[in-house]
Amino acid sequence: MQTRVLVTGAGGFIGHHLVGYLADHGYWVRGVDLKQPEFAPTSAHEFQTLDLRERDNALTATADIDEVYHRAADMGGIGYITASHADITRNNALINLNTIEACRQNRVVRFLFSSSACVYPAYRQDDADVTGLREEDAWPAEPEPGYGLEKLFMEEICRYYRNDYGLENRIVRFHNVYGPLGAYDGGKEKAPAAICRKVAAAVDGDEIEIWGDGKQTRSFMYVDDCVEGVHRLMRSDHCEPINLGTERLVTIDELVDIVSTVAGKTLQKVHDPSKPQGVRGRNSDNTVLRQVLEWEPSTSLQDGLAVTYKWIAERVCETVEA
Ligand code: NAD
Repeated sequence: MQTRVLVTGAGGFIGHHLVGYLADHGYWVRGVDLKQPEFAPTSAHEFQTLDLRERDNALTATADIDEVYHRAADMGGIGYITASHADITRNNALINLNTIEACRQNRVVRFLFSSSACVYPAYRQDDADVTGLREEDAWPAEPEPGYGLEKLFMEEICRYYRNDYGLENRIVRFHNVYGPLGAYDGGKEKAPAAICRKVAAAVDGDEIEIWGDGKQTRSFMYVDDCVEGVHRLMRSDHCEPINLGTERLVTIDELVDIVSTVAGKTLQKVHDPSKPQGVRGRNSDNTVLRQVLEWEPSTSLQDGLAVTYKWIAERVCETVEA
């Protein structure tokens, strides 16, 4: 019989890509979100527009479902998550607790929780030349306030539901996912999309504003690798939190240079250290990922950014021409 899966956050960036991937791989897919996908029609067999902060909506969403890929969250880039601690923590706690409890009541077989590298402690990320973060490094805890703290709390709730109720879980800690069909303006966009937008809007030789001093470091994963990794993890028997990202550490300035090269533009970077930049350095250690999945993300940053830039540049140009 066809496995019936629910993707929450199916109107969002990763959720939308994941729905397409799962539908292509033979699953019956229900998508749930506050909104329909913004940039392309959903491939979900059924799409419910629901607010998962309401308990009854979570029960409706999870009815007659075998597996849940739980992706719905109130989230955005570093500017958004540092400015909205109360809203983000309250909204995500309600969404997450309602959804996992509804899974228990509706006898869902597997529940995959979308956690984040923001669970890792600040004291391990204060150097741009950071050592890759291993899963066990999350404790003793000092996560990103608000967003990261709530993710860490929910990771533990998953463990309690597994131990106390036998709800099988998967917990995946994403490291900076980018690609087409994601937010690129309006305040919820993340660094790769914001940089693509700024480069697209600039004329050769222009100055562009970069948040921070540009020497802060991160690793970035292309969205196609992300959804493949998530599906592989769901099919595995690994219940502990696991990193999903790449191990290629780049500075934000290097990211700008790659996008500028893709765009064929020479631009002057103007740094604004007063803007939020998050931790100084963050990278994934994929040792466990390689052991568990015998696989890891492989799209190069150049290739992934080329596709992403093209998609964003087309939209920026349309806006300028309109
Ligand atoms: P996104 O903002 O594009 O998608 C999240 C979706 O959740 C949105 O479409 C939003 O409308 C929906 N949502 C918010 N509140 C809701 C509610 N009350 N009820 C129903 N739906 C609601 O974000 P994304 O980048 O696709 O991220 C998906 C998941 O992955 C999130 O849980 C996020 O925390 C996690 N994550 C993403 C990244 C990344 O780099 N994109 C990194 C770490 C973790």
